[in-house]
Amino acid sequence: MENSILSIKNLHKKYGKVHAVNDVSLDIYKGNVYGILGPNGSGKSTTLGIVLNVVNKTSGEYYWFGGKLETHDALKKVGAIIERPNFYPYMTAKENLELVCRIKGVNSEKVDEKLEIVGLIDRKNSKFKTFSLGMKQRLAIASALLNDPEILILDEPTNGLDPQGIHQVRDIIRLIASQGTTILLASHLLDEVEKVCSHVLVLRFGKILYNGKVDEMVNHNAYFELQSSNNQKLIEVLKYHPELENFEGNEEKIIAHFKTQVEASELNKFFFEKGISLNHLVKRKQSLEEQFLTLTNSIETQS
Ligand code: ADP
Ligand code: MG
Repeated sequence: MENSILSIKNLHKKYGKVHAVNDVSLDIYKGNVYGILGPNGSGKSTTLGIVLNVVNKTSGEYYWFGGKLETHDALKKVGAIIERPNFYPYMTAKENLELVCRIKGVNSEKVDEKLEIVGLIDRKNSKFKTFSLGMKQRLAIASALLNDPEILILDEPTNGLDPQGIHQVRDIIRLIASQGTTILLASHLLDEVEKVCSHVLVLRFGKILYNGKVDEMVNHNAYFELQSSNNQKLIEVLKYHPELENFEGNEEKIIAHFKTQVEASELNKFFFEKGISLNHLVKRKQSLEEQFLTLTNSIETQS
């Protein structure tokens, strides 16, 4: 595919008994902002580590730029920050970036341009050791941008920052995305992904819970409330619905989740044709936050 930046297919990673990445697939296309969202330990960093060639996969495949380049050459077109930023403490911001330019073999003319993007141009002659954590993180982003990468990869870019620092880093990510750079970021923060990303891969225990557009996620996890004069019979019929994922309920009300998008009218027809008339049929959508809470709560009960 023309605009493919990265394609991950059925990736697995096992650390002994821990299945850290369990059948993860993800397609990244030019110009979008992708989030990998999941609680701590869900396999986000491991996934990033594999495609960046610092963690060995157990099985599965990934292809950079449509498979035209070997990983080593492809990674020259990738900017990534997966660890705490580390620079020389007694050198200035500018000197540190000039050093990175020499190491990467890129023209040091880029330094000011990138410092401008991350809002550090006024502090370019300050020593790194005088920087706040947020400024250090922004310098790391500038550094990752020096070779004008096709994609910028960030692992938990706002971890440990104060609210102002978080806000600044998110603004910078949006700015970089608006200039056409594709972005992939891992985060355990729902609101970060909601505010910054167009697409999201939700992981739990290394498995995909959702993969798609952020704004379609709400629709995806819709569910139905159902009720008839005979709920027992309703359940018997419901069990035969080909798209049924699961249900719960009692004499009062049945809650049904489906694997695919089901419309209320279709469902009504389905029951009617099987001799059941519903006296309650409501389609409800969980907010992103509710969905994410469901997700993290079920982790707490399992661990
Ligand atoms: P996340 O980034 O989502 O917090 P990780 O990818 O860091 O998750 O970890 C996923 C799982 O793999 C966790 O259970 C973690 O303990 C385990 N894990 C990660 N790295 C290692 C390692 N080097 N050795 C053993 N287990 C690891
Ligand atoms: Mg991590």
